[in-house]
Amino acid sequence: RKSRLQKFKDLPTETRDKHRISLLANVGSLSDISHVSDVGADGIGLFRTEFMLMNASHMPSEDVQYGLYCDALQLLDGKTFTIRTFDIGADKELPCLSLPQEVNPALGFRGARYSLAHTDLFKSQLKAVLRAANHGCIRLMFPMINQVEELDELFNMIEECKTELIEDERGFGELSYGIVVETPSAVLNLASMLPFLDFISIGTNDLTQYSMAADRTNPDLTKIYPSLSPSILKLIKITIDTAKEASIPVSLCGELASNPLVAPILIGMGIDELSVNLNSLLELKSTICNKELATYIKCSEEALLIQRIDELNHYVSHCY
Ligand code: PEP
Ligand code: MG
Repeated sequence: RKSRLQKFKDLPTETRDKHRISLLANVGSLSDISHVSDVGADGIGLFRTEFMLMNASHMPSEDVQYGLYCDALQLLDGKTFTIRTFDIGADKELPCLSLPQEVNPALGFRGARYSLAHTDLFKSQLKAVLRAANHGCIRLMFPMINQVEELDELFNMIEECKTELIEDERGFGELSYGIVVETPSAVLNLASMLPFLDFISIGTNDLTQYSMAADRTNPDLTKIYPSLSPSILKLIKITIDTAKEASIPVSLCGELASNPLVAPILIGMGIDELSVNLNSLLELKSTICNKELATYIKCSEEALLIQRIDELNHYVSHCY
């Protein structure tokens, strides 16, 4: 089976009738990044930068972060590189930061909220990314965004970083900007944020958790609310349609993308990119190549009409 998949490594990810999508990798370290071409990925759709803090005894300096992003650019050799700013919060164990206990960490100071409240830490990351962008294209995306005021704050902070870099005579490059769409608010407020963005990426892991109000770490709840449900499909559909209206490309980086039964439906709904774990990538590519786009569109239209979780999951297991 492995050798059957190997032939897809150097092939583009496209449907049988050559509708091309970008198939990217979710990574958490430089070592992951060194395997991106081994699995035939078009680049990185999600670099979870907080992973580099998980084993660190102290916060990496701006220079250390800059070195790491530059190393990643070199390994990627022109392929897409999407960095997600630190998604820190009390839901993650980080020995180098003492995070205050929160009763409800998933609803607390995490993602961009945490970053905006801890400017020294955040500015070290933003400056490192801006400096690295002098050596290659970088897409930067912000986690846990609900509304446009948060973007105002983020872009003000980026301007501040640029001013300080100019004062210090440090070179930097321009970035592409995106958000992770992972709260119901972000879906509903998307149109007001798109004018400030170059791309978006749907984070279905959290979008499921927050739309179902179901803790993603509680296995009993994930049994009741599996990753594929009518409500998540509807939220994805609204997001894609809203972004298409503004001609903004849409990626999807949650676990749902790596399910070979679901990915074709996402393509049928108009998704431009999927970002998945390294070990699901080749198998997924081979599945996507199997059928024509019209088949995937038809399946997505039918799937969107299904109202029951079990019926929907059954439907995707035999619709292609
Ligand atoms: C998501 O929420 O779907 C996502 C991709 O990010 P994470 O799993 O890191 O929260
Ligand atoms: Mg998330």
